[in-house]
Amino acid sequence: MTIGHKAQKRIAIYPGTFDPITLGHVDIIRRGARIFDHLIVAIADNPGKSPLFSSDERAAMVRHEIEILETSPDSQIEVITYDSLLMHCVQAQGASVILRGLRAVADFEYEYQMAGMNQQIDNTIETMFLMADCVLQPIASRLVKEVAFYEGNITPFVSPHVAQKLQQRMREKRREAMIPSS
Ligand code: ADP
Repeated sequence: MTIGHKAQKRIAIYPGTFDPITLGHVDIIRRGARIFDHLIVAIADNPGKSPLFSSDERAAMVRHEIEILETSPDSQIEVITYDSLLMHCVQAQGASVILRGLRAVADFEYEYQMAGMNQQIDNTIETMFLMADCVLQPIASRLVKEVAFYEGNITPFVSPHVAQKLQQRMREKRREAMIPSS
């Protein structure tokens, strides 16, 4: 291997909905930033999933989490939104790795299919999986939103900043739900 190859930057993309970013996501970002020279957190602007927060709001929350994350000065983390096919975004960003988090067996089927199909679209891009800290593995944005809607305690699952944004949005939702439709 030549020095030129060694000097080449390893760019990874961590894609997801991040609606909103949880402590599980943050842990994957922290671990990924240790491995790759440049980590791009790519937020899917996918209206089909009817996210609670707009992609800009989700990106702002991710940026906020990254600012308070203690990473080595060498690691670079960037946040983008995308509304294209993931593989096109990966190619456009010059990344060679798609980073995903694996929680439980339940995630495996979907991740397996997605990685397999992406491999057929572009075989030069690898999908890699990381596990979050055991305590953080069960956290899922969907469940955090449910707990927040019913005014449960979400502090074990998201940062105080995200908790405040989520509680505010859920107050609005509850208010909307009380207004009878005409
Ligand atoms: P998507 O809609 O793409 O699944 P998510 O925001 O739900 O978007 O998840 C993005 C990625 O983060 C996925 O790879 C998911 O498995 C991973 N992830 C989410 N929560 C956790 C967690 N608690 N621990 C580890 N990985 C997680």
